[in-house]
Amino acid sequence: MSKLGNATAKAELGRSTWKLLHTMTLRFPESPSEDERAALNNYFHLLSRLYPCGECAEEFQLLLKKYPPQTSSRRSAATWLCFVHNQVNERLGKREFDCANLDATYDCGCGDEPISKPRTPVGSD
Ligand code: FAD
Repeated sequence: MSKLGNATAKAELGRSTWKLLHTMTLRFPESPSEDERAALNNYFHLLSRLYPCGECAEEFQLLLKKYPPQTSSRRSAATWLCFVHNQVNERLGKREFDCANLDATYDCGCGDEPISKPRTPVGSD
């Protein structure tokens, strides 16, 4: 692939990933359980190890060390991610995003249904 092609592919991957991450934090429970908090924290750390763009993954790992994920509520998770994305924007010479616009920008079209339901244990019925 050409250099331009690589850059375009990397940018597309970045846009899709950010969209998923922001939409996810904005659907994170308002009052998460300890298990949900651990899941979100693990998710970001695993992503920082497995993200396909090596340079991005390395930088993201450094950011996670400096600014550990905030998981105490939906608002804190969404605001933290917005801040971290702005750190990446700054490094890449992009404009700062106004985090007051998060709710208006990201809508998964999922309504208000809970993101997960407790599982029924196998053989319990
Ligand atoms: P993006 O930054 O992809 O943003 C997409 C849209 O999200 C914007 O148009 C805007 O509407 C909205 N947005 C912008 N900022 C915020 C914010 N703070 N909060 C909420 N919404 C916002 N690329 C590299 O070249 N080098 C890297 O090291 C690198 N590291 C990355 C690390 C991660 C974890 C990810 C997910 C991506 C990384 N990228 C990196 C890709 C890069 O961040 C961009 O996704 C890519 O350059 C495309 O940029 P864009 O201008 O289209 O907007």
